[in-house]
Amino acid sequence: MTTTQSPAERAAQARAAEVQLAADGIDGVVFGWVDNAGLTRVKSVPLARLRHAAEHGVGAVPCFDVSLVDDSLTTTASSTGPTGDLRLVPDLDRLTPLAAQPGWAWAPADRYAQDGTPHPGCQRGFARRAAEAVERRGLSVRAGIEIEWVVADAAGDPATSAPGYGMTRFIEHSDYLREVLRALTAQGLTVLQLHPEYSAGQFEVSVAAEGPVEAADTTMLVRHTVRAVSARHGLRVSYAPVFSEGAIGNGGHLHLSLWRQGGNLGNGGRGRHGLHPEAEHFFAGALAELPALLALGAPAVASYLRLVPSHFAGAYRCWGLENREAALRLITGTAAGQANAEFKCFDAAANPYLAVGGVLAAGLAGLDAGMELPPETRGDPAALGNAERLPASLPEATDAFEKSALLRQALGPELYEAVLAVRRAEAELFAGHTDADVIEAVRWRY
Ligand code: GLU
Ligand code: MG
Repeated sequence: MTTTQSPAERAAQARAAEVQLAADGIDGVVFGWVDNAGLTRVKSVPLARLRHAAEHGVGAVPCFDVSLVDDSLTTTASSTGPTGDLRLVPDLDRLTPLAAQPGWAWAPADRYAQDGTPHPGCQRGFARRAAEAVERRGLSVRAGIEIEWVVADAAGDPATSAPGYGMTRFIEHSDYLREVLRALTAQGLTVLQLHPEYSAGQFEVSVAAEGPVEAADTTMLVRHTVRAVSARHGLRVSYAPVFSEGAIGNGGHLHLSLWRQGGNLGNGGRGRHGLHPEAEHFFAGALAELPALLALGAPAVASYLRLVPSHFAGAYRCWGLENREAALRLITGTAAGQANAEFKCFDAAANPYLAVGGVLAAGLAGLDAGMELPPETRGDPAALGNAERLPASLPEATDAFEKSALLRQALGPELYEAVLAVRRAEAELFAGHTDADVIEAVRWRY
């Protein structure tokens, strides 16, 4: 992985890759990273510059640490406005020719300072540090993020209003879905399921679980690919938390399992539903921190138009076996090794590196403190009357984040301050707007 490689080793890796890429007809490589507002940003180089880019990185303006969903900029004590430079360094372990963009390959990028040290505001670096902290305890995590999106026609209207999960919708978009499937598979991804989702024009794909940083990389690649395939079919894609007022939105559910020596700690234990103590502590830690974690997993003003009761979004801070209205849905699976916890409250506006890194940090704190899960919630928490609502607005989630010593420490001061500033500025940006205005403003941004 890039951080453990020297610039010379990265250049050697690029040199070896260039030969294959040239044989594959690749002309250029696009580097992707996700900013604190949840927008994927890119830069590209011609193939002949890949070696140089791998060794030295390409220039990247630091102001994207404080960029908002509308591309305006806020500030922090350490932000430098238009001055300064970072280096965007591709991780060539994930170098992937893009099936729906012939001639292009893709790689996720880490951000470094000009002196070659990791940039403290790098979200991918944060996720990697969190994963390493898990590994230092002799544990490992496997993760996967479900990806939901709305497909629209050139006019911006949902490209199908056939029923959710409906056969009609599947047939209407048969060639499109086949190309999505083929492109993802050709890129080495293991697709588990692809189906029409509930809302008008909505589809969903899920891919196999992998390491936490790899799962976040995969999320970026899947989204890039779905958008590229859609463009080839004259379709537009929205990953915004909500596409239409009142409708069920685009989730970004994070599935996570904890392992020790090849054994899934969500199966075969003596705890509730077979949980081993470590898994219970870990999930309890994440559940306890969930209000603050929403600032990472539900990062937008629009996120809270999605995160409402009875919308399958998990608006209550509770857990339950196969409970789709609980923020934490426990899944035991039908085969050993499948058990996992699903964070349903997260949406498709989230930076996946921040979301997964934050959950790992909170899980480890739960592990260290030996935390236990509260009583299980069975049935719709909205009907029970005593379940705790998660924050119902971005300012509320940001207040919880501001009080979280745990996340402040895990993210490090520079990244923490940048996220905080972006959340406050986006809340300010949309203060006084109607729900419809907010949805309209961000529908095509993510
Ligand atoms: N689209 C729903 C959401 O906003 C989730 C539906 C489901 O997969 O359960 O999270
Ligand atoms: Mg779904």
